[in-house]
Amino acid sequence: MDRRTRPPTNDARTRAGMDRRTFLQRSGIAAMGVAGVDASALPPEPAEPHVRGYRTLGRTGLRVSDISLGSGGGFENAGVVRHAYERGITYFDTAESYRGGSSETMIGEALRDVRDKLTITSKVVTRAKWKRGRMMKALEGSLRRLRTDYVDIYMSHAVNNVARLQSDEWREFTALAKRQGKIRFTGMSGHGGHLIECLDYAIDHDLVDVVLTAYNFGSDPAFYERFTKSFDFVANQDGLPRVLAKAHAKGVGVTVMKTLMGARLNDMAPYEWGSATFPRAAMRWVLSNQNVAAAVLSMKTKARIDEMLRASGDSEVRPADARLLRGYVAANSTTYCRNACSDCTGSCPLGVPIADVLRTRMYEVDYGDSQLARSGYAALDTNASPCLSCANPTCIDACPYGLEIPTLTRQTAQLQRSAGRSQRG
Ligand code: SF4
Ligand code: SF4
Repeated sequence: MDRRTRPPTNDARTRAGMDRRTFLQRSGIAAMGVAGVDASALPPEPAEPHVRGYRTLGRTGLRVSDISLGSGGGFENAGVVRHAYERGITYFDTAESYRGGSSETMIGEALRDVRDKLTITSKVVTRAKWKRGRMMKALEGSLRRLRTDYVDIYMSHAVNNVARLQSDEWREFTALAKRQGKIRFTGMSGHGGHLIECLDYAIDHDLVDVVLTAYNFGSDPAFYERFTKSFDFVANQDGLPRVLAKAHAKGVGVTVMKTLMGARLNDMAPYEWGSATFPRAAMRWVLSNQNVAAAVLSMKTKARIDEMLRASGDSEVRPADARLLRGYVAANSTTYCRNACSDCTGSCPLGVPIADVLRTRMYEVDYGDSQLARSGYAALDTNASPCLSCANPTCIDACPYGLEIPTLTRQTAQLQRSAGRSQRG
């Protein structure tokens, strides 16, 4: 739906001027009630944290744990990776850029002796000028750090334009690497602007065996229809669920990330009760989509792994879960940038990639992960510096979800500028 024709919020209080974010927070949290939830609405508590669901990763035929280990945030130590394996996790996702390669190193160190029992994905962000030889060098670096002869899946990482998918160099490189036995399958990952367009292109042109894409309850129109009975915040495009269904139907394995919608885990902590916790509720939502083979979660500690695994094998979203998710959306809807949305594209005459900039803000402000934010921001071809002196912010009304883009992009530029200064001493 075009944002200009989208139905406006019709609650008189917002029209009367109450700050939209405050209104959403108050109404959403209030709707959760103060007396907790009915015990019969609680999900069952598994006896021990362990993987209880394995799914098939599309045409690769690989069976992977429904909750899997991502490594963008790094690990406390290599023991965390081993712990994941011992708890039944069989799918490990990493990239050469994560923690400057140290995430790959820890995975290699922890799992070398059980390599044949695992599925390992690694990824590389390629540059426009890269030739196949440069790509092969990147792959070989990953193999060295992972202490293995091959990765099961090798992905073109953080794809945000179709040109990257059209690269003959990438195709030649992956064909050669397959012949040499260094990779078994290929894929792409994406979480920024043009995500749907890129996924459609890759699937329609049969370029990938597996995809890794951002996906959570906040980016799924079905969530709003089913649990809020409202279209006020509905993603105005149902592109993401559609494209995941298409991928699944064509035998492309679907793995998903950014499943916690910004992962502000403390926001819902006062409302959690027993087995009804926000992270588990978000996970059950993701797993309720049968097109998804695995949720890839960055988990730095053993405790986090144990918490998340309590949702494994469970794809039923219960009333207690729905209350937590609804409250979370109410609290965060106007600062969270949807991953599959490109509605603000073109609103900045200076070409600031708003969705990509705001993703790095999420890393810094919501995840509290300055290193990830810094490396993501540094990798942008164009960053948010122009926002610091922008006299005519034409992006101001570009977001149908009410995000105050100029404020948020300026804040991101300021954060990164200060981080750069303190790094230089
Ligand atoms: S800022 Fe708003 S319009 Fe732009 S990508 Fe994010 S959610 Fe979409
Ligand atoms: S504040 Fe100005 S420079 Fe920044 S994204 Fe908006 S229009 Fe572009």
